[in-house]
Amino acid sequence: MLKPLPVLALCAGALLAQPAFAQTAEVTLARIDCGTGATPTNVNERFSDTFAFKGLSLVFTFSCYLIKHGDDYMVWDTGFAPGTSPNAPKVSLADYLAQAKVKPEQVKFVGISHFHGDHTGQLAPFTNATLLIGKGDWDGVTATPPMTGANAAGFKQWIAEGRKVEPLPLDKDVFGDGSVVILKTPGHTPGHSALLVNLKEKGPVLLTGDLVHFRENYESSGIPWFNFDRAQTAASIDRFKKIAANMKATVIIQHDRRDIDKLPAFPAAAR
Ligand SMILES: [Zn+2]
Repeated sequence: MLKPLPVLALCAGALLAQPAFAQTAEVTLARIDCGTGATPTNVNERFSDTFAFKGLSLVFTFSCYLIKHGDDYMVWDTGFAPGTSPNAPKVSLADYLAQAKVKPEQVKFVGISHFHGDHTGQLAPFTNATLLIGKGDWDGVTATPPMTGANAAGFKQWIAEGRKVEPLPLDKDVFGDGSVVILKTPGHTPGHSALLVNLKEKGPVLLTGDLVHFRENYESSGIPWFNFDRAQTAASIDRFKKIAANMKATVIIQHDRRDIDKLPAFPAAAR
């Protein structure tokens, strides 16, 4: 008769949290336009709690990503839904995926960096996917009432239809081979995540989510006024920068237009 072995179960959990780095499947990464800033943003007003950027205005971009791992697909962030904001994309994520000959129902994982509306506006088409979301954000979305800033409406259908969700308490090695790792980087929101994608030719790529919004804030480890937790953000930026340095990774700031051409224009993908 088999008895439960709590110690082994614990070890298995610990192993799962450690990227294995033994990938064999081919991995590709493509950027999809998920919106463009309608007007420049004065970043000093909302995006620096130390008054660091007097007079600096930037037009933000909004980015989604498609990752192919062997025959499996993952989407990272879903942008605004078309027509919902002046910054919203003109073409839907599903229509972009069609250009790459991918049907939304083929997508196995939808990972989101955090629960804000500009990252969670197009969850609806991914009917068969498992949603990967930091536990702190999932708790914020499902709280009554939802946490301030959480785009609970974006998840309504997902919850009502009982689609698959994996709230992440720690990092997540998505495919179990170290090729795609969701990095726990809380602070912008309670369950914020960044993404590491290890590509064979291009090398490691780090996607920031909204850990930082633009290059100047990344370089100076600057923090917006409206973040959930300043100390957590500072610690997460520190971790992220150390990973970037140790792995000699390409860092892509998702909202920074100057980082768009670090990946080939869609539907081409880095590999
Ligand atoms: Zn954002």
